[in-house]
Amino acid sequence: MKTIGVLGAGQLARMLALAGMPLGFKFLYVDPSHSSPASWLGEQIVAPFEDATALQKLADSSDLITYEFENIPVSVVRKLAQTRSVFPPPIALESSQDRLLEKQFFNQHGIDTAPFCPVDDQPSLEQAIAALKLPLILKTRRFGYDGKGQFLVKSLEDAITAFNQLGQKGIIAEGFVHFDRELSCIAVRGIDGATFFYPLVENFHHEGILRLSLAPAQVHATDLNLQASAQVGRILQALDYVGILAVEFFEKEGRLIANEMAPRVHNSGHWTIEGAETSQFENHIRAVAGLPLGDPKPRGFSAMINIIGSMPDTSKVLKISGAHLHDYSKEPRAGRKLGHLTIRADSLEELNRTLRENLDLLPLETAKQWQNRLNRSKA
Ligand code: AMP
Repeated sequence: MKTIGVLGAGQLARMLALAGMPLGFKFLYVDPSHSSPASWLGEQIVAPFEDATALQKLADSSDLITYEFENIPVSVVRKLAQTRSVFPPPIALESSQDRLLEKQFFNQHGIDTAPFCPVDDQPSLEQAIAALKLPLILKTRRFGYDGKGQFLVKSLEDAITAFNQLGQKGIIAEGFVHFDRELSCIAVRGIDGATFFYPLVENFHHEGILRLSLAPAQVHATDLNLQASAQVGRILQALDYVGILAVEFFEKEGRLIANEMAPRVHNSGHWTIEGAETSQFENHIRAVAGLPLGDPKPRGFSAMINIIGSMPDTSKVLKISGAHLHDYSKEPRAGRKLGHLTIRADSLEELNRTLRENLDLLPLETAKQWQNRLNRSKA
């Protein structure tokens, strides 16, 4: 039996194991936190990602290595890659860890982004404001996630406050995109270069955290799916990528503007567990293990709702038609992703009806945003 080593033992690692075990794989994780969501499904080495003994054990006991988390030091992944196959390739991790390099990489491959400027001191902050105009967004170049490490800047005073809070260097300023909606593209590429794209997904964020994904995204007029697969296809090729890659986009007037990429399975792809012929998790395992990839075709229409902060009443949500609950077995804490719920339906009308009856599962803002989107698409 082959063992897949995973850096990280959170919910993504857990769902990778749930998809990989039926294919005959064993899982071994390295993660610093005790009682991690994946620890029930295989052995976990509880240690920091930089721990040399833990990494040696991971390399010795695994046939190949992958990761569920993009803030792992690239040096760790490069070291492991000297003795074991590590997928996605370390270069993909490196390109996605720094928002400045990531945007430059997108632009080099003909992919549009918001205009941006590096900010490392007060003069470069002033230059960024002059070039990008207000409002703009200031973000840390590295280690930001779920809206953490970023500020919407509407005035000079906001800019100074954000600049100080972000540590005065290692910052990127981005022009504010007045987007129509947020979309993501999940793709998978095998060791042999075979590539599949899931249909675009529409995402609704609140307080920087993904709350709702609708799949497939309803696409009008221009064929956004073709635009997305052409762009993401170029990234996959440039990185000689293996595994699942997620790219988040803004859509503005029928054009895609790339925001960021994640070289791993992604929250906006969780719907694929029940809503696609082959889930992103199974396809990631198939890709990294050199197996044939599975069909990404959607099975009907899906809505994925993230469960943040506290779990809902299980018996209540399981009564919802087409609902599938995933509880990550995490301790409740404000702002923490504890699970998700996917509602699957055979028609869009049925999905919308079920969602309308269960809007209390979403933050008020997201429910309103969804309702507005529905009204606009009917108009
Ligand atoms: P990020 O951490 O880059 O994924 O940003 C989190 C969320 O902030 C995004 O999903 C958007 O809703 C919003 N956002 C980020 N960058 C921009 C931008 N340049 N213009 C407008 N909204 C943005």
